[in-house]
Amino acid sequence: SPTGLTLLGLGAMGTALASAWLDSGHDLTVWNRTPTRAEPLAARGATAAASVASAVAANDLVVLCLLDDASVRSTLDGVDLTGKDLVNLTTGTPGGARALAEWAAARGARFVDGGIMAVPQMIGVPGSGAYVFYSGSAAAFEAHRDVLAVPAGTTYVGEDPGFAALHDVALLSAMTGMFAGVTHAFALTRKENIAPHELAELLSGWLTAMSGYARGIAEHLASGDYTTGVTSNLAMMAEGNATLLATAEEQGVSPELLLPFMRLMRQLVDDGRGDEDTTGVVDLLLGSRV
Ligand code: NDP
Repeated sequence: SPTGLTLLGLGAMGTALASAWLDSGHDLTVWNRTPTRAEPLAARGATAAASVASAVAANDLVVLCLLDDASVRSTLDGVDLTGKDLVNLTTGTPGGARALAEWAAARGARFVDGGIMAVPQMIGVPGSGAYVFYSGSAAAFEAHRDVLAVPAGTTYVGEDPGFAALHDVALLSAMTGMFAGVTHAFALTRKENIAPHELAELLSGWLTAMSGYARGIAEHLASGDYTTGVTSNLAMMAEGNATLLATAEEQGVSPELLLPFMRLMRQLVDDGRGDEDTTGVVDLLLGSRV
């Protein structure tokens, strides 16, 4: 069948992907290290392969959703991959994806890496906003674009097999900073008579309103001038930081989540760049201006 595919890995995410492909009528062959996880899918029409080799032999398109790079390699070790198109949706680093691409090419397979920007509950749900970054073989991606678009949106970011992981990790890293800030906000208010769900609504609206911050940084990086259009400059923000830290102390909250970023902002002010915004921190993190 032209729409047939194989999926290796039936964890929380793999099972969600499998469901979406089955719901849309695709001919799906599945394999999982622990075979019992394939049973509910087999009951819904999937073919549960008895071995990795037979699962891979069943279709040209082989999607992987395993724990990490090591499990991808050990799972495919010794299996004939000649002429296969591997789409690896296992989260990893850009370097790991590039190494896997070479490893696959040496075995005669085309390789596409993917970074899933969703949790399993968003997979196969129209309008959920779920999408996957893809990079690597453009020919393999084009050949399977329609099948890949079934569980989530597709965003192809280039031939470099590491780019999907790099985009994925860039977004996850930004999210980590947001989670840290939200966590600190809850700690500040935890002992007071402020309902957590009320603070949550306020945080959600505020963070949405502040999300244009990224576009301001982008403009400055593109122009090389970090002073234009700055509404809150570093000198002002450094004063504000003192208030944030003093309030943390008053409330008995450790400032440890705030301090690393604030130290870098202070360094720029001390370097005489108080009329800029935080764009210069990008250069500090890299050790030099690009
Ligand atoms: P789970 O922990 O639910 O499942 C892990 C899967 O990997 C299982 O199928 C497990 O098999 C298999 N596995 C683990 N180690 C090995 C191994 N050595 N050899 C063969 N198979 C192995 O993870 P998820 O399904 O949630 O995640 C899978 C991938 O998707 C990860 O890379 C994750 O980062 C990514 N992802 C997950 C998201 C999420 O919200 N869950 C979001 C975005 C990406 P077994 O059943 O035998 O243990």
